[in-house]
Amino acid sequence: MSHDHDHHAPGSAEADERRTFASINPATGDVVGVHPVHDEDDVRAAVARARASAGWWAGLDFAGRRAVLTQWRGVLTRRLAQLCDVVHQETGKPHGDAQLECTLTIDHLAWAGSHAEKVLGRKRVSPGMLLANQAASVEYLPLGVVGVIGPWNYPVFTPMGSIAYALAAGNTVVFKPSELTPGVAHWLADSLREVVPDHDLLQVVTGFGDTGAALCRAGVDKVAFTGSTATGKRVMAACVETLTPVVVEAGGKDALLVDEDADLEAAADAAAWGAFANAGQTCAGVERIYVHEKVHDRFVDLLAARARGVHAGVDVDAKIGPMTMPGQLDVVRRHVADALDRGGRAVVGGAEAVGDRFVQPTVLVDVPEDSAAVTEETFGPTVTVRKVRDMDEAVELTNAGKYGLGSAIFTGGDGEDLARRLRTGMTSINSVISFAGVPSLPFGGVGDSGFGRIHGPDGLREFTYAKSVTRTRFKAPINLTTFDRTPEQETMVATLLLALHGRASQLPKLPRRPLETIRGRRRS
Ligand code: NDP
Repeated sequence: MSHDHDHHAPGSAEADERRTFASINPATGDVVGVHPVHDEDDVRAAVARARASAGWWAGLDFAGRRAVLTQWRGVLTRRLAQLCDVVHQETGKPHGDAQLECTLTIDHLAWAGSHAEKVLGRKRVSPGMLLANQAASVEYLPLGVVGVIGPWNYPVFTPMGSIAYALAAGNTVVFKPSELTPGVAHWLADSLREVVPDHDLLQVVTGFGDTGAALCRAGVDKVAFTGSTATGKRVMAACVETLTPVVVEAGGKDALLVDEDADLEAAADAAAWGAFANAGQTCAGVERIYVHEKVHDRFVDLLAARARGVHAGVDVDAKIGPMTMPGQLDVVRRHVADALDRGGRAVVGGAEAVGDRFVQPTVLVDVPEDSAAVTEETFGPTVTVRKVRDMDEAVELTNAGKYGLGSAIFTGGDGEDLARRLRTGMTSINSVISFAGVPSLPFGGVGDSGFGRIHGPDGLREFTYAKSVTRTRFKAPINLTTFDRTPEQETMVATLLLALHGRASQLPKLPRRPLETIRGRRRS
């Protein structure tokens, strides 16, 4: 269902001369599709088309946009198997995993469409005492055209975390997918075009980094980027030139904490899934595990048993596929080798687990905390496990990392206090990565994991600007913003101010807390 929106007529001399690239099935090496390398002019033309449609889309009311997004959701749901197959071919992930990411995406699309009005619609707010003659209101208006630069690991779920929310907020979108998954992007855009054939709500531009960089410079009103921290910085640098705001979702090094009273079977099951699912190519996947010393050995045994039950391959029993990006194999190989060189031990897998296309599950123990396998994003089916004295040490080690995307806790208690002490944007208690599947929860991180949020109310607001309006309801008894203001009125204002705020310091003092506790709280 290809729908070419190239401004070069297909078959023309110009079209024939264009550069193209192939997307490859990483499990087999087969060519899945061939796509144009869009240059700066192409990208600008796509943004111009998106801009031409932006007024129409923003002008629809929330109900109108919701109706379109609902129809799109229907198309996606009915053709789920087709979409999953494209994902399977371009990423190599098993169909079941492709189905999982598409299922979550459809649920998010439904949430974004149905909550946009409540979150973004006009609300009256109190004008306060000093401007009591004003009616004050705020609403969140679309920015216009949003550029989305997406990754390959979840080529539906991740970019749609921006696309669905940006559309629901009233923007049109130009999407630059990873060079590894352009077919998935086209499939998505084509399916929306079936619902709205006459407007450019979602267009795809394909190519490499240069095409993404061109999108940053093409005059879009915001860029939503998901990928590595290094590329995130380049995206920001490009956006600086035009003061284009950005959302950066830049991966992580998520920790899982296992307390002494945790359900160890459940923890090992979840840890294995969090670390190995999607061959570890999950930004909020589990990459390091800190386990209470009292249960460490038992946990490692349980996790090892789970790891041995999972293998990467193309056979029907393979629960994980290949590494989608061939270059990632070198990263994984380097991290595993470094961990082993520096005294680490592979309980399962190890150096020989890193093959030509596939990496087998690997569990590493006794790995120094300053080695790459603990500090850098590995993005493979490997995990480090470390024994800790208590959960305080686990929190300290977790927070020592430069990333701060997600985290998980397994505990017999409620875990909420522990969760708040972890410097990560999201935490799952007694499960892993659940936060990503709850549409009403914002998704994003701190530190090197980036900033800004997709999903939830914050994810809708991210693609809008706040519009504040005051309307004079009646003439103010004292008008302070006129040159007719008199000294008597200024005295009255001083008296009023005293009545309103002057007694603040006379309020009872807060009970004194030792400085150390206050400092300790801030740090944690
Ligand atoms: P990148 O960050 O390089 O790529 C992400 C997206 O940005 C792709 O669409 C890419 O296009 C595009 N891009 C590349 N260069 C530029 C540029 N200068 N300006 C604008 N856009 C650009 O990630 P990789 O795919 O190379 O993966 C590298 C590492 O990133 C992984 O090993 C993993 O650690 C991490 N990663 C994190 C993800 C997450 O979910 N947060 C997802 C994917 C990767 P193109 O693909 O055509 O180069």
